Amino acid sequence: MTNKDFDFDVVIVGLGPTGGTLANLLAMNNLSVLILERESGIYNLPRAVHFDDEVMRIFQTIGITKTIAKKLIINKGTKFLDENDNLILDWPRPKVITENGWYPSYRFHQPDLERSIRQRLKIFKTVVTLQNSEVFKIINKKNFSVVHYKDLKTEEIFSVKSKYIVGCDGANSFIRNEIKTEMEHLGFEQRWAVIDLILKTKKINLPDRTIQYCNSVRPATYCRNVGKRRRWEIALKENESAEKFFEDKTFWSFLSQWVLPHEVEIERKTVYTFQSAIAKKWRKGRSFLVGDSAHLTPPFMGQGMCAGIRDASNLAWKINICCKNGHNERLLDSYQSERSSNVRDYINTAMKMGELLNSIGGTKVSDTVYVQQDGTIKMNSIKPALGKGLGDIKDKNRGKIFPSLKIGINKDFDSLFSCNSILITNKKINQKQLKIKAYNVSKIPEIENVLKYFNTSSLIIRPDRFIFGSSDKNNLEKFSESYLKETYI
Ligand SMILES: Cc1cc2nc3c(=O)[nH]c(=O)nc-3n(C[C@H](O)[C@H](O)[C@H](O)COP(=O)(O)OP(=O)(O)OC[C@H]3O[C@@H](n4cnc5c(N)ncnc54)[C@H](O)[C@@H]3O)c2cc1C
Repeated sequence: MTNKDFDFDVVIVGLGPTGGTLANLLAMNNLSVLILERESGIYNLPRAVHFDDEVMRIFQTIGITKTIAKKLIINKGTKFLDENDNLILDWPRPKVITENGWYPSYRFHQPDLERSIRQRLKIFKTVVTLQNSEVFKIINKKNFSVVHYKDLKTEEIFSVKSKYIVGCDGANSFIRNEIKTEMEHLGFEQRWAVIDLILKTKKINLPDRTIQYCNSVRPATYCRNVGKRRRWEIALKENESAEKFFEDKTFWSFLSQWVLPHEVEIERKTVYTFQSAIAKKWRKGRSFLVGDSAHLTPPFMGQGMCAGIRDASNLAWKINICCKNGHNERLLDSYQSERSSNVRDYINTAMKMGELLNSIGGTKVSDTVYVQQDGTIKMNSIKPALGKGLGDIKDKNRGKIFPSLKIGINKDFDSLFSCNSILITNKKINQKQLKIKAYNVSKIPEIENVLKYFNTSSLIIRPDRFIFGSSDKNNLEKFSESYLKETYI
């Protein structure tokens, strides 16, 4: 089949943060993309307020950091307090630039981010976005796929043929149903009210960190959000209805510990069931699940959307290779194999946090938790590795993130290879013999030092900034072939 046989390279179902990021990454590779979104506007109930350095680096790749920087604050961290406000666990997020070139943790307003992602998509002529368009049927054939959708305004039915379909269609994913995969439920399920407030006065003395109020009766979370925005997440009791909780008497009797009705404006409020689950299969043939359609986590680590953005970054370059060089089962299978164990680690840690919140202490949160000299317990952030996926699993550098580097006068090394893989080496290069772009970095001390840090003389870096593999051998041709063997058919 030629490109003329397809309407689009990829159809993305759902334009949340995951679908929007994926569309940007695919379009940067010159792929043609159709985005079908059921709603007419951006979702406006309270959701994500935090993302991390790795996600900010992906936003850097798609070129939105300048726009979103104006609307972010650096997050200082989280404290877990017991019922008497004693510190049980401290999770600081030091204001130090990480290996990803950004601060470890940011606070943001999800609709602002989604607007920036959508705005960025407008620079690409190969992207078509159709809102009010609901997907109701897909066909998954060996060599192509077909998506059927309905224009919700005119009731007209359309169908498009594409090489791939990606379901970025959220927690109640239609694509997940279509590929007939089940969710593996990991155990946490609890209803929480989420309330976003805007402070009317500066005088209110509220913490400038996230506080997790651990309590066996009414656990709660306070988030210091951007500008005058503040959030409370409050667990509902077993048989308590949302209506009952939101009655002024119940609601304000709890919230008035911190703020009074005349001091704040309620921006939005709702009740969610926080869940922990992972889809058993993330792909069937030419259809994929990405983001909330593939996994759900309680939000205690602020990692649900982050995981979806990481999925998008992992899958985009693999789909790009398949669209240009032909469908490659092994490469596409590596998507779930690399991402699902990483997501699982985040969900398990978030569930432990949930247990701690629902108790008055005593739960071990993760292996990075330790007791300090003053007796309080401190937690370092976790950075789970990629799962098995691509490359030689005996290679100690495989699957590690390659750091973000400034070279020369403040130039980002990432921008030099943008959406491509590269081989960097301090050995002599004969580019004609290599099918992958190679750089000799022996005259760039910033990068040579990184090779030393990884204790190797050559590295292949993937477009998503993870290391495919390392080699000390002189035969770069053989090394680059090991990459081609796994990624090209
Ligand atoms: C209270 C709360 C706090 C959170 N806090 C954080 C946090 O701090 N940090 C973090 O990283 N994450 C957080 N999350 C999680 C985060 O909000 C989600 O993981 C993220 O929004 C999911 O993005 P998505 O693009 O995968 O799905 P969604 O944003 O749900 O987008 C799916 C889209 O698909 C569309 N769609 C669905 N079906 C169809 C169809 N058949 N046809 C066409 N379109 C369709 C929908 O209209 C929707 O726009 C939080 C979540 C909650 C509830």
